[in-house]
Amino acid sequence: MTRTAIAIVLAALATGSTWALGNGEHSVRYLMGTWCDLVIFDPPPAPDVAESAFREIARLETVLSSWDPTSEVSRLNASAGLGPQRVSDDLAAVTDESLSICASTRGAFDPSVGPLVRAWGFYTETPATPAPDSGRAAASHVGCTLIKVDRDSRSISLAEGVALDFGGIGKGYAVDRALEILRARGVTRAKVDFGSSSLGFLGRIDGGWPVVIVDPRDRDTPLVSFRVSEGSVSTSSQQERYFESDGRRFGHIFDPRLGLPVESRLLSVTVIMPRGSTADALSTGLFVLGAAEGKRVISRMPDVGAVFVEQGPRDLVISTAGKVTGLTRLSH
Ligand code: ADP
Ligand code: MG
Repeated sequence: MTRTAIAIVLAALATGSTWALGNGEHSVRYLMGTWCDLVIFDPPPAPDVAESAFREIARLETVLSSWDPTSEVSRLNASAGLGPQRVSDDLAAVTDESLSICASTRGAFDPSVGPLVRAWGFYTETPATPAPDSGRAAASHVGCTLIKVDRDSRSISLAEGVALDFGGIGKGYAVDRALEILRARGVTRAKVDFGSSSLGFLGRIDGGWPVVIVDPRDRDTPLVSFRVSEGSVSTSSQQERYFESDGRRFGHIFDPRLGLPVESRLLSVTVIMPRGSTADALSTGLFVLGAAEGKRVISRMPDVGAVFVEQGPRDLVISTAGKVTGLTRLSH
């Protein structure tokens, strides 16, 4: 998988802040198809602390990855149509949360997009438009009502042809778990940066953690910065995983209601909120809904902020919804 589209980096130097932390202890590992950058600021960690967080993420990858045919979700997908299957706590929790975000985004975030992702070749390095028949067949197997979770027996049953895909929530879930492990090991301040598309912060710093959203079309150009007190930040965009065909650009985020990749003027959506899994899934869902509908959805949710970057007639249009602190324009 290519590096994600994504548009967030921590500002190396916090402009005008009371940034009092040192550089922290950096550890980097390639996980879930991208680079995971872990920085522990306080207190100086024991030698294996970062390793224990990476181990947990690697374990979650064996549960949630659709790229790995031996992962738990791939095995569940292979049993679609065969009735309820017992699953692990993690798979049950991610499926449950995905279904609730499917409901709150009116089907825009849908973990059953697997057949579409496969038909369009996004599990390979050479995605392409499918033949109309196979595109339509894939779309007919997408829908949250085709997934049943039984919490008592911790089992999931998928209708025939259905395949779960947690590409839109897995990194955020992993960020939450990594931060939990760090907290349990006595870390009080840390940052997890997952492919720059999912960020998580443990502990608080004066003035809040600085986050920069870069231009989705050119990651070297910072657009805006804001501050996060604690919690998570996730960005979704179509700018890095896409292919072009007949002058059109098709990215890896699908509109499940149409069965097609989203094509819109929206370039990126950033969601700020306490839980990483919810932030990740919501950023994907809001990308599907677009800025106007996305803002309506956010307005019903407490503790959520969002930043939308759209292509306007001439320049980029940047707008926010909900709780976004200290937003500062950096360029354009
Ligand atoms: P990234 O992986 O770059 O962080 P996202 O979090 O937005 O980006 O997730 C995109 C991935 O989510 C796709 O690669 C695909 O696996 C999955 N996906 C695509 N469309 C949807 C959708 N409408 N709902 C849920 N998951 C989706
Ligand atoms: Mg996502």
